Amino acid sequence: MISVKNLSHSYNKDGKFQVKDVSFEVKKGEIFGFLGPSGAGKSTVQNILTGLLQLQNGEVKIADYDVKNPSKKRFNKIGMSFEQSNIYSKLTAKENLDFYGKLFDVSTVDSKELLQLVGLQGKEDKKAGEFSKGMKHRLTFARSMINNPELWFLDEPTTGLDPSIAADIKNIIKEKNDEGVTIFLTTHNMFIADELCDRVAFIVDGEIKLIDSPENLKLQYGEKLVEVEYIENNETKKETYSTVLPEDKEALEKVIRDHEIQTMHTKEATLEEIFIKVTGRGLV
Ligand code: ADP
Ligand code: MG
Repeated sequence: MISVKNLSHSYNKDGKFQVKDVSFEVKKGEIFGFLGPSGAGKSTVQNILTGLLQLQNGEVKIADYDVKNPSKKRFNKIGMSFEQSNIYSKLTAKENLDFYGKLFDVSTVDSKELLQLVGLQGKEDKKAGEFSKGMKHRLTFARSMINNPELWFLDEPTTGLDPSIAADIKNIIKEKNDEGVTIFLTTHNMFIADELCDRVAFIVDGEIKLIDSPENLKLQYGEKLVEVEYIENNETKKETYSTVLPEDKEALEKVIRDHEIQTMHTKEATLEEIFIKVTGRGLV
């Protein structure tokens, strides 16, 4: 669905590159994520793929349209949600969607239905300029799906949202993907990447360091650990043991044999821990 080869980008054309020789492919029906800290180059790549920024170096193929010579028709199949919501503040929420919907040559989703989906019911006739940041974000998100896109670009889809709204947005993304929509998303949130993405690319300083599924990464980089809380001398103690190292296995057996166990949980490495291991950098 998307093929990117040796993509580089320099905003100031000053020999400094904000995106460096990036290559990846996104398969049809996949949720592909760009995971990396702020300033890594995620939005820059999305903006090149969606035609917002001009392609400078490299090859980009998207479904059946040419990024170098885009036609208006490509918009019919694509949904885009950007980090900075570019909505009209003087129009109401409903007017924003209705106006945007008219730009497409394909049938669009009813705007009231969309507003309900993102929890903005009752706010149809409120001016978007009076919306909070989170509400604007939801409106932008709703707008990006008005044309029932086959390919959906989502830049930080849940950043800055309340947990319950973020959960709704995640569910919508999952549902759309179940219906067959291919999704490219960028995030600096390891939970989003872990929960939603079939594959993630770790990106730092404009470079992709690794691409794999969250499951494979955890298998490859995760240590198998078990965390045990037990009672000793009337006190609760907490220890973590490897389930692979022989001496830890023995110690764990001993604790189970000799003490009253309160809790016992297996721990797997988080995507952020793996990110730090691989890139030497955190996600903030
Ligand atoms: P991310 O989305 O991963 O946070 P961005 O793609 O927004 O990162 O930014 C990547 C780098 O490019 C950052 O160093 C940022 O400061 C720089 N950058 C972004 N937009 C511009 C611009 N319009 N002009 C110059 N530099 C920019
Ligand atoms: Mg960004």
